[in-house]
Amino acid sequence: MEKIKNYINGNLRDSLSGKWIENISPATGEVYSLIPDSDGRDVEVAVTAAEKAFPAWSGLPAAKRSEILIRISELIRERLDSFALAESTDNGKPVWLAKSIDIPRAIANFHFYATGILHFHSEAHPMEDKILNYTLRSPAGVAGCISPWNLPLYLFTWKIAPALAAGNCVVAKPSEVSPMTAFMLSALCNEAGLPPGVLNVVHGYGNKVGAAIAAHPRIPLVSFTGGTKTGAEIYAAAAPMFKKLSLELGGKNPNIIFADCDFEHALSTSIKSSFSNQGEICLCGSRIFIERPIYEKFKSSFLEKVKKMKTGDPLHDDSSLGAIASKQHYEKILSYIALAKEEGGKIIAGGNPVMVQGRCEKGYFIEPTVIENLPYNCRTNQEEIFGPVVTLTPFDSEEEVLKYANSTVYGLSATVWTENLPRAHRMAARLHAGIIWINCWLLRDLRTPFGGMKHSGLGREGGFEALRFFTEEKNVCIKING
Ligand code: NDP
Repeated sequence: MEKIKNYINGNLRDSLSGKWIENISPATGEVYSLIPDSDGRDVEVAVTAAEKAFPAWSGLPAAKRSEILIRISELIRERLDSFALAESTDNGKPVWLAKSIDIPRAIANFHFYATGILHFHSEAHPMEDKILNYTLRSPAGVAGCISPWNLPLYLFTWKIAPALAAGNCVVAKPSEVSPMTAFMLSALCNEAGLPPGVLNVVHGYGNKVGAAIAAHPRIPLVSFTGGTKTGAEIYAAAAPMFKKLSLELGGKNPNIIFADCDFEHALSTSIKSSFSNQGEICLCGSRIFIERPIYEKFKSSFLEKVKKMKTGDPLHDDSSLGAIASKQHYEKILSYIALAKEEGGKIIAGGNPVMVQGRCEKGYFIEPTVIENLPYNCRTNQEEIFGPVVTLTPFDSEEEVLKYANSTVYGLSATVWTENLPRAHRMAARLHAGIIWINCWLLRDLRTPFGGMKHSGLGREGGFEALRFFTEEKNVCIKING
């Protein structure tokens, strides 16, 4: 059976505990590889290696760091098919999705920051006669990066690429649910010419490895993507050390459809924003609010499309949805469907596990599920389910839908469908979300600030925001005598 290894100081090695965690492929329910069960001791060794590598790496000209990161992106591109297959096997997502979205985006993340660092600049603020301020931005040292299982390599690289480009060394932990592609990436870093200790990947459980990174006194900044509850734990662990934190957390995003929208476009995109990646994207629009005059028409057209979706083997090109990432998460989603029924919700599509025949008969599959008749403030409409489950709710006015949309603790993204331009601007200004899409969904320009408000997070990723996060600012004020 394949053994995933930690990558520390340029070497692939087992955990110090010598123990292993079983890695299950969610489409088959079978153990297919082993993950090192690392702990704080492995993190300590990784931090020491990263500290040792830091002076040389941060001292390299940006162009040299850029060259190495571009080489990493090229090596991933050369292995696109095997990375996509590994992502699908590990996470359950359709392989076509991993091949068209996840792995190309991981390549783009390296390329984007490898070139972005060449354009990163600081400011100068001249004062009155002969006084000049300028800002120095220096890498912080050892950066901690912790990522989740839903978009494994995509989100892992979205952190480590800017951290490395800015000149930091990194101690990173992918989710133990989907560690394979992070391992594959680490295995090609030496070939790309990355010096030992610059990137260290420590695998294992969140409450051991993740917690050790969050609490480590010599890791001054942590970039985390994951659930809000875990984000709060990291916040608490980091607080006594005043660490710099970037927290990208959960969401319960509204998808608001006005009667004057481009109906077909809103409909087809809403199918994607509801069920792409089995609904396991933090940006999925899980609460669909529809203006009353088109409620019934939208509902019946939406259900017609949902009923044509196929949940099946992730290896098959015609599977719209693959497996849920883990048994634990599968059970959580089913428990929310049961809760929706208890709360008076009517299941109008799906609502059941799917039995896929053949090699996937023990896998964790759930039908795309649509629920209506629920009040906006019930638990089903307030808590993050993070699966192929959406609710439909009618509304009569902008005020009413804003009240519904803004009623959760989350504030990650929101989508608005309308052909009325003033209304689009009004809604964008008043929605509590860090990312607003008008008449589109998931269009991403990597230069834009990305992140959420309220319990959806702290700070912004993307573009120069991430390079600023991964550097310390220092103002230098010079009085020129003479
Ligand atoms: P978790 O919060 O459970 O885990 C995220 C990462 O943190 C994993 O690597 C996990 O390790 C680790 N971890 C767990 N406990 C701790 C701890 N005490 N200290 C430090 N690290 C820890 O999230 P999920 O993996 O379940 O991911 C789903 C969540 O991520 C959803 O809420 C989703 O909305 C959110 N998300 C947010 C995004 C955004 O951009 N805002 C994007 C994508 C997802 P392990 O898995 O090994 O336990």
